[in-house]
Amino acid sequence: LLKIDGVWKHYRGQSVLRGIDLEVAPHEVVCLIGASGSGKSTLLRCVNLLEAVDDGTIHLDGAEITDPGVDPDEVRKRIGTVFQAYNLFPHMTVLDNITLAPRKVHRTPRAEAEKRAGELLARFGLADRAGEYPDRLSGGQQQRVAVIRAIATRPRLLLLDEVTSALDPTLVTEVLGVIRELKATGMTMILATHEMEFARDIADTVCFLDGGVLLERGSPEQIFTAPEHPRTREFLSRIL
Ligand code: ATP
Ligand code: MG
Repeated sequence: LLKIDGVWKHYRGQSVLRGIDLEVAPHEVVCLIGASGSGKSTLLRCVNLLEAVDDGTIHLDGAEITDPGVDPDEVRKRIGTVFQAYNLFPHMTVLDNITLAPRKVHRTPRAEAEKRAGELLARFGLADRAGEYPDRLSGGQQQRVAVIRAIATRPRLLLLDEVTSALDPTLVTEVLGVIRELKATGMTMILATHEMEFARDIADTVCFLDGGVLLERGSPEQIFTAPEHPRTREFLSRIL
């Protein structure tokens, strides 16, 4: 579904991504782990074309999206993204936040967009919140709405960058529950996360990034119980 080949990214002469190769199969859940500054967010930003790669290519469904002739907006129609700070539009209700992209970008009729939004809200336990404004919701609820908004357009791929790190520990569980549920529906996802327990639980593949290099990848079992690379071992022993 997604194929990243030899991707490099530099900021002011500093290499932040150093030749990343990564393939993501349909329905696969990939967790990116690694120290702060290792390049997890940058990689996700390259995939949804918020950053231009300096070298290498990225293919989505067989088509190169890093080709300069590609319209980033067309690509982003097929990739949903949720960031750490739940950037809901504060002046819009929950329902309008969720239906904005389906209506304006995908030209879905309002009634149909609202029907789907209602179904998603119900599925994630927010049916009674459709008319609320974001500031009347808890952080966990806002982040659940942000996830629903990202999947309302039925993306091929969902990118999640530290979606729980701005939340109180008590609210983390409910957001992780939503992600677990999305996995059950077969959503293909790449998550950058510091929640190792969660990565272990949900990932099909765990990738350890170190200084912009994808140093080690494998099943959660492999990475968390028998990491091969000394850097991976060192990282895990520091945080587990
Ligand atoms: P964290 O776990 O803290 O979120 P990360 O693994 O997501 O870290 P990135 O945000 O990808 O790391 O950052 C990788 C490196 O790139 C860092 O050294 C950072 O300072 C640098 N960097 C990221 N974005 C920019 C930018 N827009 N301009 C300059 N440098 C940047
Ligand atoms: Mg980051």
